[in-house]
Amino acid sequence: MDIEAALKNRGKEQKDADERRRAAEEYTGAKLDAVSSYPFDASAASTNVENMIGVIQVPLGYAGPVTINGDHAKGSFLVPMATTEGALIASVSRGMSVINAAGGARVKVLSDAMTRAPVLRVDGIDHAQKVIDWITEHTEEIDAAVVSTTKHGQLMEIEVFPAGRDLHLRMSYRTGDAMGMNMCTIASEAVCRLICENTGAVLVSVSGNMCTDKKPAAINAIRGRGKTVVAEVRVPKDVVEKKLHCTAALMAEVNTRKNLIGSSLAGSLGCNAHAANMVAALYIATGQDPAQVVEGSLTLTTCEVDGDDLYMAVRMPAVEVGSVGGGTKLPAQSEALALIGCNGSGNARKLAEIVAVTVLAGELSTVGAQAAGHLGKAHSQLGR
Ligand code: NAP
Repeated sequence: MDIEAALKNRGKEQKDADERRRAAEEYTGAKLDAVSSYPFDASAASTNVENMIGVIQVPLGYAGPVTINGDHAKGSFLVPMATTEGALIASVSRGMSVINAAGGARVKVLSDAMTRAPVLRVDGIDHAQKVIDWITEHTEEIDAAVVSTTKHGQLMEIEVFPAGRDLHLRMSYRTGDAMGMNMCTIASEAVCRLICENTGAVLVSVSGNMCTDKKPAAINAIRGRGKTVVAEVRVPKDVVEKKLHCTAALMAEVNTRKNLIGSSLAGSLGCNAHAANMVAALYIATGQDPAQVVEGSLTLTTCEVDGDDLYMAVRMPAVEVGSVGGGTKLPAQSEALALIGCNGSGNARKLAEIVAVTVLAGELSTVGAQAAGHLGKAHSQLGR
């Protein structure tokens, strides 16, 4: 399409959104003034939403600055968080000031692979084995099928899980700087077409739920999905006392009895205080898929006394973020990404490291507040 045609089209999408909103007002009797105010053309969101009638605005603040000593995120960052929970950003900022006083947080991306797990129907165990053998013997053709659908996606592994007449294939991909769900889904469909044509297996669903996307699942907690990230900090005794008004021993006790034993008694897959809070606010601010907060909630928080000091860490097995694709190109979300220097290619792992350190800061502050008996007070002062 030439530029003139594109511009004509842009105006049309905006007109359609305005007309649709007016029709919705007429149909329901609701007034839709606030959602109609946004500073971009509706065409900017054309691949992000259908039936667009406006924009929901979520208040945006920043937490920090926070000092991060990552492999990809290095320096001091103001972290954008979109939330309606009063006290959240104050609490995370408090945790960040503790991290700063401790010299910064160390953080590392341990693995990086997005998964999609189709399910095939086979005749039985022997047929399943034949399909598995075919997959093992035809890796070059399978790779070519992936390459035909994406420039940045690369198939790393296909794990096979036969069960009666089911054959579940958990496919792991490098996805460059995209979160990768569309990329992996399209590539997996191409791979399955090839497998089915050559083996007589039948594709039942491109997602057979062993991926596992947007549902709490032990497979993600154990094997990881997206980026598996670990962040840690060692906080000197005087900083714990001065800034968190408690001791390392008290915090370690709260963490063990609450985050480890309490979570275990409850059968929780995530063992943390409120990791989902930081993940949700950061994902909404930066155009990530908010439904994947489910996987962010699988965080394991550990905390121990180290001499007189405090050692705290978070292991996040499934940080599913991208610095390109999805909602990252929307105007406001793109500005929020720019605030942390995470806009565009080359920044997905940096973003994942910032997510993990922000979660660590939130955990530090909340576990500290509970150890000092301050949690209710902060919420009643700031959040009500
Ligand atoms: P996407 O926006 O669908 O695709 C990313 C695009 O960016 C690709 O076209 C890719 O090209 C291109 N690209 C350019 N530079 C890149 C770089 N440096 N690294 C990687 N890619 C680069 O995004 P996605 O991450 O695949 O999918 C995210 C979207 O999927 C979100 O909107 C999410 O809500 C949605 N989603 C979909 C499903 C599903 O089942 N389909 C499930 C959950 C979420 P090439 O592919 O040619 O390399």
